[in-house]
Amino acid sequence: MSDGAVLHVRGRVLVGPQDVRDELWVVDGRVSFTRPPTAGDVRTVTGWVLPGLVDAHCHVGLDAHGAVDAETSEKQALTDRDAGTLLIRDAGSAADTRWIDDREDLPRIIRAGRHIARTRRYIRNYAHEIEPGDLAAYVRAEARRGDGWVKLVGDWIDRDRGDLAACWPGDALAEAIAAAHEEGARVTAHCFSAESLPDLLAAGIDCVEHATGLTEELIPVFAERGVAIVPTLVNIATFPDLAAGGEAKFPAWSAHMRRLHERRYATVGAAHDAGIPVFVGTDAGGSLAHGLVAEEVAELVKAGLSPAEALSAASWGARAWLGRPGLEEGAPADFVVYAQDPRADVRVLADPRLVVLRGRPVG
Ligand SMILES: [Zn+2]
Repeated sequence: MSDGAVLHVRGRVLVGPQDVRDELWVVDGRVSFTRPPTAGDVRTVTGWVLPGLVDAHCHVGLDAHGAVDAETSEKQALTDRDAGTLLIRDAGSAADTRWIDDREDLPRIIRAGRHIARTRRYIRNYAHEIEPGDLAAYVRAEARRGDGWVKLVGDWIDRDRGDLAACWPGDALAEAIAAAHEEGARVTAHCFSAESLPDLLAAGIDCVEHATGLTEELIPVFAERGVAIVPTLVNIATFPDLAAGGEAKFPAWSAHMRRLHERRYATVGAAHDAGIPVFVGTDAGGSLAHGLVAEEVAELVKAGLSPAEALSAASWGARAWLGRPGLEEGAPADFVVYAQDPRADVRVLADPRLVVLRGRPVG
């Protein structure tokens, strides 16, 4: 802290959903459960403490038209931070945001490199647009550029067909995902429809974004293989508008998008009930605003997760899944303090009392 005071938080420190401590201290930017021997000032804050929130599907450095400049990227990251999001899994960005890693005041980012899409089968200016013969080489390159993840666009509208269609043949996927795994990276894929999922599963996919196409047949396979989903329900809420916009030219696609939207809560609820790991992602950075993590947690509760489960999808569970610590002795002091218990009502997340990043109060 800039004034040299030791930060002390008293109240209910939610180390895990059931593991609650009475207080913590910040010592040299790290969490400690032991009062430090200090003659200096102590600043005490009271409240309910969660580990820094996780947005597992966010795009920093993008807007609706493609890459944005550093100043805009900084604003996006600050908006996420002030909402309590201190760890971002960036699900694809056309901008080089590596400079953010040198900024103590900005959230930590786990990058998936740049989206990899089939030629003319994704939002313009976002992705490497390639053909299947090049998929494995691109996946390997993005695995090396990123922070342990690679992002594929698994399905998108096929304008000739007038509906969503899978983007990649199974053999190309198998070779590409094996290449990522060789590089120590996990692979996730944007998928709206059911059609793209079996080949991705067979190829060893690690996670699926949106996953609106999950079916009764596919859900047990996801669960058995531990393939996670990041539903991005705040994004799926925009499907009816997208469908209305495409109605005249692509009526089958519009109808398909509406069906996926209508059953979104049932899909996510069934996936969760079957044991599929579900994580919070807002899909900020394309057409959606940053800082929507509280809204997405509330959406998961609507889909049938308990408040504690939905919180875990944005904190304890998400951090473990991404290999990052929570509120452990000696862990970096990244946490958020709330005036009320978020386990009683997740809407509390919308109004953090204090955000602490790398041991410093921010925002
Ligand atoms: Zn996205």
